Amino acid sequence: MATGRRSGNSAFDRLASHYDDVDLTCPACGYEDEDGRWQKKVRGKRVTFSHVCPSCGEVRTRTIDLNS
Ligand SMILES: [Zn+2]
Repeated sequence: MATGRRSGNSAFDRLASHYDDVDLTCPACGYEDEDGRWQKKVRGKRVTFSHVCPSCGEVRTRTIDLNS
């Protein structure tokens, strides 16, 4: 339950924690980057996540537009 302190936009928080925990397995080589995380960049209402596979260098990016 997320009743305690609130930092910023809860929608951002939900998205951030979602991408922190999920999908750290590289689709190109199958490497599971257990210590890695998606880098989050926020620009206005657009959030861009990026992850670089430490094994093969595959770069994945995802952009979520919260304006829709
Ligand atoms: Zn990889």
